[in-house]
Amino acid sequence: MGVYGNFIAGEWRTGAQASTNVNPSDTNDVIGEYAAGTRADVEDAVAAARQALKGWARQSEQTRADILFRVAEELIARREELGELLSREEGKTRAEGIGEVGRAAQVFRFFAGEVVRFGGEFLPSVRPGIDISIRREPVGVVGLITPWNFPMAIPAWKIAPALAYGNTVVLKPADLTPASAWALTDIVARAGVPAGVFNLVMGRGSVVGQAIVETVDAVSFTGSVPTGTGIVAGAAKRMIRVQAEMGGKNPLIVMDDADLDVAVNCAVDGSFFQTGQRCTASSRLIVHDGIHDRFVKGVAARLDKLVIDHALKQGTQVGPVVDGKQLDQDFAYIEIGENEGGRAVVRGQRLNRETPGFYLSPTLFTETHNDMRINREEVFGPVASVIRVRDYDEALATANDTSFGLSAGIVTRSQKLAQHFQANAESGLTMVNLPTAGLDYHVPFGGRKGSSYGPREQGRSAAEFYTIVKTSYAQSL
Ligand code: NAD
Repeated sequence: MGVYGNFIAGEWRTGAQASTNVNPSDTNDVIGEYAAGTRADVEDAVAAARQALKGWARQSEQTRADILFRVAEELIARREELGELLSREEGKTRAEGIGEVGRAAQVFRFFAGEVVRFGGEFLPSVRPGIDISIRREPVGVVGLITPWNFPMAIPAWKIAPALAYGNTVVLKPADLTPASAWALTDIVARAGVPAGVFNLVMGRGSVVGQAIVETVDAVSFTGSVPTGTGIVAGAAKRMIRVQAEMGGKNPLIVMDDADLDVAVNCAVDGSFFQTGQRCTASSRLIVHDGIHDRFVKGVAARLDKLVIDHALKQGTQVGPVVDGKQLDQDFAYIEIGENEGGRAVVRGQRLNRETPGFYLSPTLFTETHNDMRINREEVFGPVASVIRVRDYDEALATANDTSFGLSAGIVTRSQKLAQHFQANAESGLTMVNLPTAGLDYHVPFGGRKGSSYGPREQGRSAAEFYTIVKTSYAQSL
């Protein structure tokens, strides 16, 4: 079997080291060997990107738009095949994988349009005879560092605006999921970007990621809080622009006037679909005393029926955990929750299926309070806890009592409470009668507090990060 190489300066390079990409639904299934880049690879990629920068930034808008549109078209045309590849390496279901490739295509389409829609401002000066124009210019060589849980969509929502606004790119995907990033790179490369404009360097975070932070002009990162904190500090040391999207401990409030079916659906989808491995997953279910027992019974009944199996098998609703390390972490938190006094009304079990994989059934804790570790730290697995509250005020205070602030939801029939919640939840996203996960691509995305650092991603907000403002004064003579 050959090695899938890095893409540097318009060429595929394999290098001396590689890592094996294994299917979490079937550990006998090897997807491929992927190059593990070095610091020298990053330096070459950054040098190529720097050389290509001026030409790309001056490229006509139409050319840039056409290239992004071609990427979108190929993603759409191949979404089944690429969705299966994504599911095979990450473990989300086939439908989720195909959906994610479709989302990546939508993102490229949106930014293909933005290339030509994007403009500046023209204002009169407060001084007579002077005009002011405000334009936005590319930031330069941007480093994109991405996690494993959305291996196609997250690279897409960073690559598309970076290229649209005239930057050049070095992408470093998560070590666990290089195949999706490799496939996306292959498409971008064939869509017509000039050599050096787009580079892929796969490999370890401590080697490739670190070297990127030390050499590029701006870093956009998505991943865990500890890694993000280090990256933000590294970027600050060099005074470069940085954006970090990190974890969550997202609350879903269920009020006593809630539609029970809606509440149960929101909880099951938000907490357990995609194996609970979403930064927007609702891991804290904050439930009014008046509906608590019915809600717990309803969720437990649904969890009992969830089909957990090989990601590509027909009928699977939840795929495996991404790898053995994450599985150990999930079990460790289940034990922590039990030792802290939580009651696992549904307890996660390691499951055996036809193929050897990291299968884990869901865990639902009750009798928990917000100070427990299980409610303060991100588990990133199919584990959720119920916190019982007496009224809305206690629910809101509990929802906001966290170091995170990505997404927050409420299930209620009361317009008044919904509006109050939208105004007072300390999070970047709020959801009313919807799961905390599940987003559109054309609007801003990001969090507050420990969940995010820097400007928002996606939609038109992406320009805040990927462009620099220049204000020009001119006196007409
Ligand atoms: P991670 O922090 O372990 O890794 C993310 C990326 O950083 C990977 O590419 C990794 O190789 C790289 N990296 C690791 N060490 C590095 C270093 N020292 N310097 C530079 N780069 C380094 O995260 P993960 O396990 O891949 O992903 C899961 C996490 O991502 C969860 O915390 C989840 O909540 C978060 N996430 C957040 C969002 C969001 O938009 N807020 C979206 C998806 C996932």
